[in-house]
Amino acid sequence: MKVRTRIAPSPTGDPHIGTAYVALFNMLFARHQGGEFVLRVEDTDQQRSTPQSEQMILDALKWLGLSWEEGPDVGGSKGPYRQSERLPIYRQHVDQLVRDGHAFHCFCSAERLAEVRQAQMKRGETTRYDGHCMHLDPEQVEQRLSAGEAHVIRMRVPESGLCRFNDELRGEIEIPWTQIDMQVLLKADGFPTYHLAVVVDDHLMEISHVLRGEEWINSVPKHLLLYRYFGWKAPHMYHLPLLRNPDKSKLSKRKNPTSINYYRRAGYLPEAMINYLGHMGWSMPDERELFSLADMQEHFDASRISLGAPVFDAVKLKWLNGQYIRRLTPEAFMNRVQEWALNRDHLSQLVPLVQDRTERFIDLVPLAGYLVGERPALQASDFEHPSLDATQIQQILQFTLWRFEEMRQWDREALQQNCQDLATAMDLKIRDYLFPLFLGVAGRPVALPLFDSMAILGQDVVRIRLRDALQAAGGVSKKQAKSLEKAYRTLVDSPTSGT
Ligand code: GLU
Repeated sequence: MKVRTRIAPSPTGDPHIGTAYVALFNMLFARHQGGEFVLRVEDTDQQRSTPQSEQMILDALKWLGLSWEEGPDVGGSKGPYRQSERLPIYRQHVDQLVRDGHAFHCFCSAERLAEVRQAQMKRGETTRYDGHCMHLDPEQVEQRLSAGEAHVIRMRVPESGLCRFNDELRGEIEIPWTQIDMQVLLKADGFPTYHLAVVVDDHLMEISHVLRGEEWINSVPKHLLLYRYFGWKAPHMYHLPLLRNPDKSKLSKRKNPTSINYYRRAGYLPEAMINYLGHMGWSMPDERELFSLADMQEHFDASRISLGAPVFDAVKLKWLNGQYIRRLTPEAFMNRVQEWALNRDHLSQLVPLVQDRTERFIDLVPLAGYLVGERPALQASDFEHPSLDATQIQQILQFTLWRFEEMRQWDREALQQNCQDLATAMDLKIRDYLFPLFLGVAGRPVALPLFDSMAILGQDVVRIRLRDALQAAGGVSKKQAKSLEKAYRTLVDSPTSGT
């Protein structure tokens, strides 16, 4: 059997460290055994998927030195490699399931489903579909379908017993069928859900081994059932431990930058990042600290994956990056610095901002330094302002941080709109509202145009700077955060907020 693995990112945001970690392990697993590694884009969530995000994810993985034998950018014999381009394939398979009695049409409204859920929660039961449409008369179903009634297609699941399966890292796992929902397979918009698409694609793309995050373990019974319904052999499963923040909570952008773009912008070297990701739940047989992608590939052995929660520790990563930087030849160092931010692409973003404001080139560094390097450190006294008190400053920073977390589109216009809306909702003059943001982003109250600056710096860098500014402005305790969150919700949910 040919070993074939895959990474299946959903293009719904920034390229996440977790995606790179899982991609790395899949690639190593396949290549170590002379196999193939596939990249498949799981863009079945029409609302949240964007081509920009797909492009960023592919770029980020390539920047890290990862590559794939098949994918939307390189082609391959088992494509298309974007799920949105495979709709007829899913339709055909789901029709087969309906014909064989393994799936059924469901016409339940969102309201009815919500009521069922509520009632189940009240009774302390696992919330799941109650089977309402499972036994509809076929003739009636036909009628409703031809009348064009909105519907989804759900899979049947056994009513009792246990689903037993083997995880190659964890051994045998048992999940009672009563905990498994009658999963929607095809949505009302004709798109498959992840569960249908992943099974159909892994099979048709001949994926032999699935290595993915442990958050998918509970989905395995649904997938195995689908494999059984189709009469296919399921791939071997390896559920990798989730990356954690140093406090052991799930790695999240609220606590750590999670976008690969951030690390790239901040001047991390891809080989250091890959080396660090290789440390996540894995080690070289000789336990050495510094190793390359080629070293990993040569020695990769899935049995060395440990299930203890791997901590993604920014301090350690920084140390490791320093080790790599120090080992560069002066020539390579110069090249890397140039590639990092002194390249034409990056500089061309700065030109429109600085050219009119420059009389001598020596003005450039103080003017645009914060767009290339770190901004100056802040202290509480920097935030003193004639009309804003400390609480307002904290509110502005915190509310903006929350607002920015929700932003999908990160460009000048979107930033301006969001900030303007928030200032209006907070009943603040835009100038005042922007004061702590200038400080947070540029380290001083007057700087280059702020929205352009934030667009250039990118979401993760801005977020981390604002978070640091909030800390410098006195910080927000857990208790304060709770009441701030309430105030924020009231503000953005009110009809005058413009959201
Ligand atoms: N699209 C899923 C994700 O983004 C892939 C899960 C899987 O590998 O099966 O995590």
